[in-house]
Amino acid sequence: MLYNRTFTMIKPDAVEKGYAGAILSKINASGFRIVSMKMIQMSQRDAELFYAVHKERPFFNDLVSFMSRGPIVVAILEKENAVDDFRTLIGATNPEEAAEGTLRKQFATSVGENAVHGSDSNENAQIEAAFHFSSREMF
Ligand code: UDP
Ligand code: MG
Repeated sequence: MLYNRTFTMIKPDAVEKGYAGAILSKINASGFRIVSMKMIQMSQRDAELFYAVHKERPFFNDLVSFMSRGPIVVAILEKENAVDDFRTLIGATNPEEAAEGTLRKQFATSVGENAVHGSDSNENAQIEAAFHFSSREMF
């Protein structure tokens, strides 16, 4: 089996509402192994750097404020086909379009405050994991 890794964040909206445990439980039940995990709060600058790819988008400033307003849980997850399977588990960016049984359908509030992040490629998973974790924090 070819295992690979993805990177996730349980976003401030979900942590504020007390959903972190339920989300982690669904992630585990869906076959992902937790390689790394911690709770942090991103600074505005951290969020600007993390989402630099979106800096020309109209929602960028709101996204940076949202993602830095409170604690988040960041984690690296391992599974066969991790990136694609995790995108399937979280569902569409807009919870109104997310399929039944997905994390965003169950836990997200809006297209902006959508509870969970998942990397969109193996390359970005690697970049995003390295943004938040040192190799000493990967197990
Ligand atoms: N986002 C937003 N408005 C939009 C699109 C995206 O506020 O119209 C936010 C949302 O939190 C999303 C993040 O920006 O998760 C990154 O957008 P992307 O298109 O990469 O969506 P994702 O990969 O998270 O599904
Ligand atoms: Mg994305």
